[in-house]
Amino acid sequence: MASFTLHGIPVSRGISIGRAHLLTPAALDVKHYLVPEEQVEAEVKRLQDAIAEVHRNLQELWTELPREAPTELGAFIDVHVLILSDPMISEAPLDIIRSRHYNAEWALVTQIDELSAQFDEIEDAYLRERKQDIQQVAERVLKVLMGTALSVPPVPGEDHFKPQMIVVAHDISPADMLAFRDRSFVGFVTDVGGQNSHTAIVARSLDIPAAVGMSQASRLIEQDDWVIVDGDAGVVICNPSALVMEQYRARQAELLKARKRLLKLKKTPAVTKDGTPITLLANIELPDDCGPALEAGAVGVGLFRSEFLFMGRGVQGLKVPDEDEQFEQYRKAVLAMKGRPVTIRTLDVGADKPLDQTEHTALNPALGLRAIRYCLAEPQMFLTQLRAILRASSYGKVRILIPMLAHAFEIDQTLAMIEQAKAQLREQNVKFDEAVEVGAMIEIPAAALALPMFVKRLDFLSIGTNDLIQYTLAIDRVDYEVAHLYNPLHPAVLNLIAMTIEAGRKAGIDVAVCGEMAGDVKLTRLLLGMGLREFSMHPAQLLAVKQEILSSDLARLVPRTKRILRAMEPAAIADAVEQLQSV
Ligand code: PEP
Ligand code: MG
Repeated sequence: MASFTLHGIPVSRGISIGRAHLLTPAALDVKHYLVPEEQVEAEVKRLQDAIAEVHRNLQELWTELPREAPTELGAFIDVHVLILSDPMISEAPLDIIRSRHYNAEWALVTQIDELSAQFDEIEDAYLRERKQDIQQVAERVLKVLMGTALSVPPVPGEDHFKPQMIVVAHDISPADMLAFRDRSFVGFVTDVGGQNSHTAIVARSLDIPAAVGMSQASRLIEQDDWVIVDGDAGVVICNPSALVMEQYRARQAELLKARKRLLKLKKTPAVTKDGTPITLLANIELPDDCGPALEAGAVGVGLFRSEFLFMGRGVQGLKVPDEDEQFEQYRKAVLAMKGRPVTIRTLDVGADKPLDQTEHTALNPALGLRAIRYCLAEPQMFLTQLRAILRASSYGKVRILIPMLAHAFEIDQTLAMIEQAKAQLREQNVKFDEAVEVGAMIEIPAAALALPMFVKRLDFLSIGTNDLIQYTLAIDRVDYEVAHLYNPLHPAVLNLIAMTIEAGRKAGIDVAVCGEMAGDVKLTRLLLGMGLREFSMHPAQLLAVKQEILSSDLARLVPRTKRILRAMEPAAIADAVEQLQSV
C-alpha cells in the first residue's frame, strides 16, 4: 500500500496511530459505535430481526391494500420486498457487522452509501431513480432498529477492539463530535474546518489529536488504512513505513511521559515567580466535563458552553431541553464543582453550531441571528434558560455570561430579561442567588472598542478570542481556505485584547480570556504581560499553562509586552513573542 502524507491544520495536540474509519455524512445521522466481539452475533441478529419485521410489515401492507388502490402501489411494495430480500441489503450489512464490528445502524448505512454511489454511476435514468427505493427501504429498517437499540456502546478504556480507530470524514459537526466522547476513537481527520471551528474545539476538549482542513483526506484515505495523526504539526500519514511508525510510537510515548510529569502540578497554586496569583478556570461543554476540570486543578468553570445541551437532539426527535432538564444539568455542574464558581454562558447557537442540522442557515451565518441576537428574538426560550440557570444558582456560585453582545440596548434588554426571570421565580417562591453576577463576552471588535458601555452595566468580562479574531480579521473560523489568515498575533487583535484587560482593571471588574488563546502555552506569557489574571481553557491544557505561569516573572514580561503592543510588523511581533519564552 502506498504511503502518503497530507498537510492540514493542527487543531488538537498529540499523536495518534490507528486504523482509518471513514464516516459518510449519512452515517453521522445514526448512532455509530463498535460492538464488542462477544456481542457481534447478537448485533447481527438485531439487524436480521429488523429486516424480518420490515418484511412482515410490507406483507401486511400488501394484504391490506384496498381493492380500488392503484396497481402501482402494489408494484411499489413488491419492489421494496425485492430490495429487502436482495443479498446486497439482507447479507452485506451483516458481513460489515462481523468484519468491522459496526453497530447495525452504522453497518446498514455504510452499505446503503456504497450502493448509492454505484447507482449514481448508472446511465439509465429509470434505474438510477431506484436509489430512492433503496433508501426508503433502509429507512424502514432503521426505524425498526431505533426502537431496538439494545446494545450499549462500549465505554472508553474497555479494550474491546484493536487496533484503535481514527475517524476520517469530510466534516463532523460539533454535536456529532460530542457523540464521540463515549466511544473509543483516538483521532480525528476532516477535509474541512479551521483551527477554532467548534469541531476543533470539541476535539481539544476531548483531548484527542486532530487535524482538519485536509482537503481530500476522506477521498484519499481508505477504510482500515493505517493512519498517523500528528496533531501538533497538522500532518496525517497514511500507510506509514515501519520506520516512520516506530519514530511516531517513540514520540507518542515521550508525550505521554511529559503529561504524567505535569500531573504533579495539579495541587500547586498558579502563582507567578513574583508572587501574583493567577486564576485558572475550565471551559466545559457538558456537566460531565467537571470531573476532568477538577482533575486538572481548575478553580472554577470560566465557560460552560450551554448550547451543547441543545444541540444534536433533532436526531432523537427532541426539541430544546425544557426548564427542568436544563436546571438539572446546570445544577449537576454546580454541585460537581463543589462551591467553585461556574460561569454559564447563555445559548450561543447559530453559525457553525446550528440547533438543528437541517435548519436553513442564513447567507452569512456568522453575521446572522446568532447567540444573544437569537435569544432576544426567542424571548420565551431565553427566559426558560435564564430561570433554569438562576435556579441552579441556589446550589453554588453561578455567574451568567452573555455571548456576542455589541449594542447597549442588547445589554439592557438582556438585563431586563434576567430581572423578569427573577421576578417569575420570586412569584413561585423559588430560591436563587439575588446577587448573581452577569458578564459579557467581548468577542466583537465593536464591543472591545466601546468598553465603557460594558463595564458600566456588567459585573465581569470574558474575552472570546476565537470570535474576536474571526470578526476583527473578517475570516470565517470554519473556512479552511482562509485558515492561514487566522492570526492571534495580528496587532489589531492584540490591541483589542489589551484594551479590554486594561478597561476591566480600571473599572475594578474581572476580565478573563476564555477563547483558545488562553490555552495556548506559547501565548501565556504575552497575556500575563498584558495584565491578564484569569485564564479559562479546556482542562487538558490547564496544567501546561500553569507550568508556564510558575516560571513567569511579571516584572520582566510587562515592559516587553508593552513594546510588542506598539509593534506593527507581524514578523517582529512573532519574534518578540517567541523571545518572551526565554525571559
Ligand atoms: C470565543 O469566541 O472565543 C469563545 C470562547 O466562544 P466560542 O468559541 O464558543 O464561540
Ligand atoms: Mg464565541
